[in-house]
Amino acid sequence: MSEQSMSDESTAAQATSKQVDAVVIYSGGMDSYTVLHKAIREGLNVHALSFHYGQRHSKELDVAAAVCKELGVPHQVVDIRSINTLLAGSALTSDIDVPDADYAEANMKATVVPNRNMILLSLAIGYAVSLEAKAVWYGAHSGDHAIYPDCRPEFVEAMNTVSHLANYEPIDVVSPYLYQSKADILADGLAMQLDYSRTWTCYNGRELACGHCSACRERLQSFAAHGVTDPLQYESA
Ligand code: ZN
Repeated sequence: MSEQSMSDESTAAQATSKQVDAVVIYSGGMDSYTVLHKAIREGLNVHALSFHYGQRHSKELDVAAAVCKELGVPHQVVDIRSINTLLAGSALTSDIDVPDADYAEANMKATVVPNRNMILLSLAIGYAVSLEAKAVWYGAHSGDHAIYPDCRPEFVEAMNTVSHLANYEPIDVVSPYLYQSKADILADGLAMQLDYSRTWTCYNGRELACGHCSACRERLQSFAAHGVTDPLQYESA
């Protein structure tokens, strides 16, 4: 093959596969839905990455797939269930009851998955390197700081440093709402006129959201704080 034809081929490849700017960790929930849209609004060419970690139900992943299809965003779902044999029980994946009270620290410690964000970010960073992307975006926020050590600013900053050390290509770890609350994220999403009926938050996987679990309560409180009705349908009280 001549040098000329090789260069023609690489030009053609560039024309058909656009540079990927960022991998967005996207669960199908409200926060990552907002992060996904924020990245797109900033003009980034994104790939969405979801994890099947043994959720009690697939509602979030189903919603995530549907949203990505609508947006024309490439969406990768990676099945990491086999790692659960290494990790102690969390209520999100095992038979422990999901706390039904408010989003209080003691209750929510039952939902901690050991080393969760370090594992997920590691995989996402590797995916970003493979795609020749520049960054991984994810939706840590201040409301989780008290409960989840791996949502705190010092963790995110350290992961960003490690990501730069671990690869030839520096991948930035970007958490745009790190210092903001869940309600702030919703405010930003409402300002972007996002349709939050295209998200799933409830810990239960029934057809409609339960409205009573800690995730539903926190979600409803966020909407109430803005005086806005949650467009998601709930089971009648
Ligand atoms: Zn619920």
